[in-house]
Amino acid sequence: MTTILSSKVFCALPWTHLTAYTDGCCGLCCLATTPKLDDASINRNSFGDIFNQQHWCDTRLKMLAGVAPADCWRCFKEEQSGYKSHRIVENNIWEKRLGRDELQRLVNSTTAAGKVEESFQSLDLRVGNTCNLQCVMCGPSDSGRWAKHALDLSNVVTDRELQAEMDFRAKCDPKNYSWHQQGRVWEEVYEALPRIKELVLAGGEPFLIEGHLDILKKIANSGFAKNIILRYHTNCTVFSSEIVEELVKFKKVELCLSIDSYGEKNDWIRYPSKWDDIVKNMHLMDQTPENVDVWINFSLMAMNILYVPEWITFFDSQNFKKISKDRKSRFNPSIVHNPDYLSILVLPAKLKQAITKKIQSFEEELEWKTDKLLGVVQVMNSEDKTHLLPKTRQYIEALDRVRGTDFRSAFPEVARYLYG
Ligand code: SF4
Repeated sequence: MTTILSSKVFCALPWTHLTAYTDGCCGLCCLATTPKLDDASINRNSFGDIFNQQHWCDTRLKMLAGVAPADCWRCFKEEQSGYKSHRIVENNIWEKRLGRDELQRLVNSTTAAGKVEESFQSLDLRVGNTCNLQCVMCGPSDSGRWAKHALDLSNVVTDRELQAEMDFRAKCDPKNYSWHQQGRVWEEVYEALPRIKELVLAGGEPFLIEGHLDILKKIANSGFAKNIILRYHTNCTVFSSEIVEELVKFKKVELCLSIDSYGEKNDWIRYPSKWDDIVKNMHLMDQTPENVDVWINFSLMAMNILYVPEWITFFDSQNFKKISKDRKSRFNPSIVHNPDYLSILVLPAKLKQAITKKIQSFEEELEWKTDKLLGVVQVMNSEDKTHLLPKTRQYIEALDRVRGTDFRSAFPEVARYLYG
């Protein structure tokens, strides 16, 4: 039987899910480049209204007509390079979660105007930009700490576009990222709990958001937690036993740890994290109750892709009993597309060749074969953006100067290719 799932442009998320970004604007998902719409902001609208806002209706109709929505270019670009995109992953999840027939029924209920009567069953809430880190690929919408160094960086770089970007990063008005402090937003979330299957809390760093523990306790004790999969995206620098006490009440909890490499490499990217704290917290999380699943999501960019084998080897040396036990599905690379000058596409051809060879032979040795790393390599080799390298070099040097870090010491081999 042919179902909507066989369509090359269909994604279940416009029928099931909403993402609220740190500034309150909503989008199709965490990867979609949904335009910032005045009437799709949680600062002014309810989640329910946004789910049937014109853009969501148009997106559903486009997908049903076999047209790829512009918001979803990242998924389609990755699929063209043979990579298993977020769209494919989410379609598999929702097919399993609801069943193929139920998913088809939900899609069939779409009106001619693109509306659906049954509202979202999944929310991804990027609860503000409070964060203790300022990662090199982030901006003020991800971390309020960016304002601290961005002006200094703007004074150091000479590239006009980089300067403008740093000036933008410096402008971080906390008021723009405070939607999660509105009681009415949480009232709507609590009211939706009976139908919620999945709740994602991310930030910023969700464990540092003001009022986080109270919100967690309220949801954990609502009587619906046993039906909900709760997922956190955390940088693994903070964790506590008080949190664990609430997590046991959920059907399932996923702690998705954003750790991009090991040792000083991760600390350089996720400045100013302390690697020893991260390792300590990973071991704490490894001791969490059975319903808590812990996995690693690592963002791959120009500086760290060469070191993926060493990162995985370090990880294996820790002998975690549960973290990413199912390596194949739970040790997940994701590809940094923005800023474009940090993307793996900017790397010089010789370095790309070295990375390709290294990852291919590492994959051959792996007991747990995965096509993901080879998929990333395929994406890396699909396009040449070396024209952005002057910007990459300038940004790295400016970061080292302003933060007092040492890229050449953290990434010596990549530095040789970039700087000669
Ligand atoms: S196709 Fe990709 S970008 Fe679009 S909603 Fe689905 S997962 Fe998100």
